[in-house]
Amino acid sequence: MRVKQLGESVLRETALAVTQDELSSVEINDAITEMQNILDGIQAISPENGNAIAAPQVGLSKRLIVLRIEGQFVTLVNPAISWASEDTIDSYEECFSFYQLRGVVERAAQVWVDYTDVVGHPQQLRLSGDAAALAQHEIDHLDGIFFLDKVADTTTVASVESVYAANPTRLAQVRDMIAYMVG
Ligand SMILES: [Zn+2]
Repeated sequence: MRVKQLGESVLRETALAVTQDELSSVEINDAITEMQNILDGIQAISPENGNAIAAPQVGLSKRLIVLRIEGQFVTLVNPAISWASEDTIDSYEECFSFYQLRGVVERAAQVWVDYTDVVGHPQQLRLSGDAAALAQHEIDHLDGIFFLDKVADTTTVASVESVYAANPTRLAQVRDMIAYMVG
């Protein structure tokens, strides 16, 4: 399967930090390529999707995520939230590891994410809104946490079948994405 699915133990592990030596390793570079390819594969089915993935989702328990920001891939090695706003947003979330479900999670409205780039230089992203929520979702994956664990009101959890019941075109597209992820 392309993306590890809910129930796979690797998704619940606390991922290990990537060492400086590992940055040039085949294992890490192959994982980054695989993660980018999966995001492109998803975007090919649905242009608005395929924007973020964490290494445990491709079976690698390392602290590594790939985000697509303004059309460009950004690889974040050992990302950590160094500041989060007190104000929050209700984030309507989805996850490639159980794409059949949607739900609302309260997330910090703004975050600063400290990380190392692929050549080992320290970097910082300052994100707000949906991008901030996306980064928080992906960093949670590195600690074995799913958005489902953080849904305060479980009545917000809904299946894509119900969410898109009135939009068969979109539902078909979502089903194609699921088939790609689990294929
Ligand atoms: Zn996810």
